[in-house]
Amino acid sequence: MPITVVGSIAYDTVRTPFGQRERMLGGAAVHFALAASFFEEVHVVGPVGEDFGEEQLRVLRERGVDVSDIERVAGGRTFFWEGEYGWDLNSRETIDTQLGVFEGFAPKLSASSRASDVLFLANIQPDLQRDVRRQLPHARFVALDSMNLWIDTARESLVQAIEGVDCVILNDAELRQLTGKPNLVSAAREILSWAQPPLTPAPGSPPPLRGPSVVVAKQGEYGAALVTRESFFALPAYPLETVIDPTGAGDTFAGGLVGYVAAHPHEQLSDALLRRAMAHATVLASFNVEEFGTERMQRLGGEEVAARIEQLHAMTQFSGAPLALRA
Ligand code: AMP
Repeated sequence: MPITVVGSIAYDTVRTPFGQRERMLGGAAVHFALAASFFEEVHVVGPVGEDFGEEQLRVLRERGVDVSDIERVAGGRTFFWEGEYGWDLNSRETIDTQLGVFEGFAPKLSASSRASDVLFLANIQPDLQRDVRRQLPHARFVALDSMNLWIDTARESLVQAIEGVDCVILNDAELRQLTGKPNLVSAAREILSWAQPPLTPAPGSPPPLRGPSVVVAKQGEYGAALVTRESFFALPAYPLETVIDPTGAGDTFAGGLVGYVAAHPHEQLSDALLRRAMAHATVLASFNVEEFGTERMQRLGGEEVAARIEQLHAMTQFSGAPLALRA
């Protein structure tokens, strides 16, 4: 099923203990699209400024991503983010965020972006996420990411955005901040309770409001956990000896998860499908952090992904041989 993503298309300046890059291609929608393009057709929606280069668009085009809904705003500046990581790559400091063309942006989706069955609302102002959600009322699977900035400044709108999606993908700290619950599982359960009871729509009326049935808690180098009403599942991150730049790992993870679901249009959103999606998400994110920005993803091959999935599978299996424990 084709995927539409709305979110930041950015220039990122990043410093890590292993080096730095100025104004490289980044943005949540870009990282998502590169990962999701391994599974399905992806349409990216978002604005860029006059300073955005053809070369950057080519990175997306080369992976078959549809960039026709990337709007170039005359006289505008592309979204800019600057961040710095210390030795603990799980925590970073945002040095600067310049919304640029995102200020006053009103998403206008083309017919092909509106026709997607799968929608990812990447981290961006929640009013914009809701606006795009309304333009795809019939999407079969909708996922959302957000961040502390929007929990601090636009919580009410973010909660409403979450009530309109199937799957919420957040960092563990963001889940705690959003729900006020210190425990990850209870925080996830709180979000699952925001679902609206399904109504029986009258024939011809728009589909009922749904609500999240899947919550994914990203935990950086410690992996990610999946919580539904019925089940719990967790995977460690793929163990890497060299991590250069974690920027975009979360969006790449989301691209793997949502992309894998989109590639299985005839399967129910079962626990088994979601677990396999988590494995693909984990593996794609592991490649993203091996180099700065999108550098590694630009030359990643499908066979490398498949090989790492096999390794992750082997690493996370154990036999359930029961042992009679001493009382
Ligand atoms: P991640 O590391 O997965 O959280 O994503 C990092 C990406 O998010 C970077 O490429 C940034 O350009 C982008 N980003 C950072 N802050 C924001 C923000 N406030 N709104 C939208 N995108 C952002």
